[in-house]
Amino acid sequence: MNFADSEVVASILEKAGYQLCGEIEGCDFVLINTCAIRDNAEQRVRHRVRELRAMQGRHKRLRIGILGCMAERLQDRLMAEEDNVSFVCGPDAYRRLPELIAQVRQGQKVAEVELSTSETYADIEPVRLGSNGISSYISIMRGCQNYCAYCVVPYTRGRERSRDPQTIIDEARALFDRGYREVTLLGQNVNSYGLSPDRQGAQVAFPELMDRVASIDPALRVRFATSHPKDLSDELLQVMSAHTNICRCIHLPVQSGSNRMLKLMNRKYTVEWYLDRVDAIRRYLPDCSITTDVIAGFSTETLEDHQATLDLFRRVRYDYAYMFKYSLREGTYAWKHLADDIPEEEKTRRLNEIIALQGQIALENNRQEVGREYEVLVEGESHRSKEQLFGRNSQNKVLVFDRIPAEGGPEAVSGTYRRVRVTDCTAATLLGKLV
Ligand code: SAH
Ligand code: SF4
Repeated sequence: MNFADSEVVASILEKAGYQLCGEIEGCDFVLINTCAIRDNAEQRVRHRVRELRAMQGRHKRLRIGILGCMAERLQDRLMAEEDNVSFVCGPDAYRRLPELIAQVRQGQKVAEVELSTSETYADIEPVRLGSNGISSYISIMRGCQNYCAYCVVPYTRGRERSRDPQTIIDEARALFDRGYREVTLLGQNVNSYGLSPDRQGAQVAFPELMDRVASIDPALRVRFATSHPKDLSDELLQVMSAHTNICRCIHLPVQSGSNRMLKLMNRKYTVEWYLDRVDAIRRYLPDCSITTDVIAGFSTETLEDHQATLDLFRRVRYDYAYMFKYSLREGTYAWKHLADDIPEEEKTRRLNEIIALQGQIALENNRQEVGREYEVLVEGESHRSKEQLFGRNSQNKVLVFDRIPAEGGPEAVSGTYRRVRVTDCTAATLLGKLV
């Protein structure tokens, strides 16, 4: 989401006459787009800001601006704590950046953190940053109002609002026409696209939007994230099964395998509901990969709750998981009402147990892939060897395979589809041969 936002910021600033620098040396402004989801994300930003202080000693004109969720969360406090920061700008205020920068150039310190109920940046054509020219993000909605007890997002990104569908379809089509072959539609809970209480902008719901984006061209792959389990509908799965170019990969963050934890987290589903959704995915899309997010050591989590998470992992057999230790966030329901009472070492121990189990499951899943054939969208040269290419299959798994020298360099084949047979694997990668 931040990556997509940075592309909007780059577009706004280019229109105002600023240019992106390839190098940090010699630039006048460093803008850091930040995440506040866990404390370690924030600590990394603070570390970066402190590193830049030395550079500011050498380049007196260099100013630092903090964008995004940390700016929203900390506001003026951030500039008081990190006095080499000149301005902070929250995620709904990017249109005002040229103005803010002009004020900073006159020596002022400024904070612009107003949240909006309607801003979607729908009319701004993002500048594609560091793009491979093949896949791109498209932000389809902003904000979140699910108020999961642990989560800071509703406070840093404001109310949920959906972007006008036609602007999304136009952006996807323009990307396809420029040679892109994959778009990922982004939102905190894409399943509620178009259903926000105020129904701003959007006249269609998510399954219909997917249908329309997937209909642009069968050669355009369409992905989406994130899908909240409480709202994953059969209708969406039916639309997916009707379009082979909608990728067979669903990110379905579970957070915990214990009903008691899910209730405390305010996730609004039970383990039984979640497993029913997993069954529905397997029914409509037998070859779909499923990935997840999980939190270890949330408030009052017992060893039994933790075991329930491990059991759920064994049951669903995820292809990939983002696994986190619970991090208490100021302002959330949990911060106000629930104790952060699992000791750090115990959180680490539980997290490591989940990571070890998931590593084993991913490897076993990948071993079952050996012998299967996939259509792979080639993305470029493999990091392992100049003689190899890499790409992804519809399930979002990375495949590495030998290139055919007569076809030309990686540039010549990037963005094309190739059939690859899986011959070997690691827990993270499938190795294969062109068919
Ligand atoms: N909207 C998405 C999640 C966005 S945040 C969804 O609901 O699925 C990405 C992930 O960060 C979450 O799924 C959760 O696993 C994790 N996360 C959020 N807040 C956290 C916290 N306070 N501590 C640890 N992990 C957290
Ligand atoms: Fe956070 Fe929950 Fe919203 Fe996801 S759905 S962003 S976890 S509040």
